[in-house]
Amino acid sequence: MQRLAILSLGSSVEPRREYLENAVTALRLDPDMTLFGYSHIYETTPVGGVAQNLFYNQCVSVLTELEPHELLHRLQKIELDNGRTRDTHWADRTLDIDILIYEGHEINDAELTIPHPEMLKRKFVLAPLADMMTPEYRIKGEPVGELLAKITSCEEVSAL
Ligand code: ATP
Ligand code: CA
Ligand code: CA
Repeated sequence: MQRLAILSLGSSVEPRREYLENAVTALRLDPDMTLFGYSHIYETTPVGGVAQNLFYNQCVSVLTELEPHELLHRLQKIELDNGRTRDTHWADRTLDIDILIYEGHEINDAELTIPHPEMLKRKFVLAPLADMMTPEYRIKGEPVGELLAKITSCEEVSAL
């Protein structure tokens, strides 16, 4: 059975838009996924104090029968194909693809946590998510629009 997986894309190294486009194209071309929806691209200020550059962020959803770990490995391959290196955690990166939500799955193991543990705290995730799904879409019973309004951090997030 196909299930909906919601992904968060990010890039903070030029050409940022091209990295996001490459990711969407790779998802489209994967025979085991059907691209279902995507948000506008947002320019966002870095969080976590390591990355320096402004990010481009976008939400994308796919329908897939892949198991969550298989999906993660496909996404990691797309990151590597786009020059992603993992030296310093949260550093600037060509392409990051996180699984936010995988319909029907809650996972917490060494490799994968779903829903993504940080998503409720991040404007750069929730703004594109509300855009793609509508602000009424609920996570853990709460509308995304309300979750977004509650975030008090000084992150700046603007649609391109
Ligand atoms: P953050 O997870 O805080 O956004 P990051 O995306 O920069 O940080 P990465 O270096 O890209 O972190 O990933 C580190 C590890 O996180 C990956 O090797 C992967 O196994 C694990 N991981 C756990 N849960 C998820 C998830 N929901 N989506 C993607 N990766 C995940
Ligand atoms: Ca991430
Ligand atoms: Ca990641």
